Amino acid sequence: MSMKILTSSLLLASVYLFATEATVQETVSKPKLILQITIDQLRGDLPDKFMKNMGEGGFRWLKKNGLWYKNAHYNYSNTETVVGHTTLATGTTPDIHGMVSNVWYDRSKKRLVYNIEDKRYHILSKNADIDDSTEVDSSQALAGTDGRSPANILVSTFSDELSLFTNKKSKIFGVSVKDRGAVTLAGHNGKAFWFSKTSGEFITSSFYYDTYPTWVKKFNDQKLAERYSDTSWTLMYDKSKYMFGDSDDNPWEEDYANFGRVFPHKYSGKENKYFNHYLTFSPAGDELTLDFAKAIIKNEKMGQNDVTDYLAISFSSTDYVGHIFGPSSLEAEDNMLRLDKTLASLFKYVDEKVGLDNTLIVLSADHGAPEAPGYLAKLGIEAKWIAPMKWNKQPSLKRLKKKFGVGQDLIEAFFPPYIYLNHTVIKEKGLDLAEVQKAVAKEIMDIDGIALTVTSTEMRNNTLPDTYLYRAALNNFNAKRSGDILILFEPHCFANDMDGGAIMASNHGGPWVYDTFVPIIFAGNGLKGKQLYRAVKPNDIAPTLSAIVNAKSPSGANGDILEEVLEGVK
Ligand SMILES: [Zn+2]
Repeated sequence: MSMKILTSSLLLASVYLFATEATVQETVSKPKLILQITIDQLRGDLPDKFMKNMGEGGFRWLKKNGLWYKNAHYNYSNTETVVGHTTLATGTTPDIHGMVSNVWYDRSKKRLVYNIEDKRYHILSKNADIDDSTEVDSSQALAGTDGRSPANILVSTFSDELSLFTNKKSKIFGVSVKDRGAVTLAGHNGKAFWFSKTSGEFITSSFYYDTYPTWVKKFNDQKLAERYSDTSWTLMYDKSKYMFGDSDDNPWEEDYANFGRVFPHKYSGKENKYFNHYLTFSPAGDELTLDFAKAIIKNEKMGQNDVTDYLAISFSSTDYVGHIFGPSSLEAEDNMLRLDKTLASLFKYVDEKVGLDNTLIVLSADHGAPEAPGYLAKLGIEAKWIAPMKWNKQPSLKRLKKKFGVGQDLIEAFFPPYIYLNHTVIKEKGLDLAEVQKAVAKEIMDIDGIALTVTSTEMRNNTLPDTYLYRAALNNFNAKRSGDILILFEPHCFANDMDGGAIMASNHGGPWVYDTFVPIIFAGNGLKGKQLYRAVKPNDIAPTLSAIVNAKSPSGANGDILEEVLEGVK
């Protein structure tokens, strides 16, 4: 070996040593705080669509300073709130995390169950349970108890893994207007708070605490919701500045609970039983969530030591506003501008308390949003509502009953996207379940507006062709919770409420681009602004966060690590 070669290998060895040291150093400069923001129903194109009138500190700041994945899509068929939030939390798909739908049918209980209901853990406040007579959230209204816990999430979350990695030294919190927006991301080890539309307070359940921490009591004693009493949701700017300034009043928008279809939307006073609901149908819900998130950061001293803390905030207003007015409405446009202001206020606060350089922000959404069928029709795009609850009365299903010799309805329960057949009668008659599933699925498939039906037997046997729709169906199939038949609607075709009338301007929950498309943005912690167009998935987020803090991925994780994020953090 010549001297020259020896020198260069020594040189190489020292470079290698240097690189190892640098890697070790990276593990020391982990973020002090991970801030995971979920915007309920924020379709991937919406921030850019309305950015013109946005300020500097919110989405524009994220665009300049964040790694923005502009081609992120969910890869399963049932794009609903609890499904998306759990996917973000666990880094896996509903077949594995088990939250296949906001609501599923529990055969042992013989009723539909709400995803995070748990009768063992009651909420800690009196008179704060949902009021069925006023509840707009149709899935939450199906809960059989006021109790809530993450017990139905079948795998660990990123926050659980962070807690395991630091032997519970990391502080972990989740907050949202929606209970399922907070409980999912807080995981099995963190603390979750959500907004009671009955009491106007942020509440929790006995799964998390025996009594409220003093600071939470003090926060609720301020009765911040009441600052909106006798005020209105008004436009931030003059109407002429808005893309939808000349179309405030549209017949497809809902005048839900007399909140009105046009600005100003009056909040009324606290004596009105819908007062707190109105707050959630408007930017006020996000503003209150922000107040509570700031109180968590301050009172729990988040991000103040060398252990990484985790705060998940899910902002729900974009979802309620989208459902009631549609994403292409003056209300949705103003809500986006006010959400931008809320984000700017949050980032400023985090910068003051923790430093954005020490905080890793990740922002995404639990699902996208379809346009309201009425709006699509105005643009000449065909869209329709269909009434699935009438299917038992279809002549074709009546004929099947006759063919199989059964007196009762073959469909025992339906909650989109699953049909649950009457197993008792099928068993009593000695019928073959797979054969009945196949026959019913075939008849439903013939209904106008249905793109595909898939039976649970087909999914278990995995005899399906390898196409996008079947893969999306399989990723949503959990043998214990998914129904006998999965139903996928055609693009721009939606299930209305259970008896034929449309109660919402628009409804998400399908496998099509408008529902699967969400932003994924990482910012802070040394990251630089860049837009990326390679295809990624929201279940990539949790494994990426795990890699950043050197913890193992959540127990069911099947996403990929986003290497640009690891390369970009300081
Ligand atoms: Zn949602």
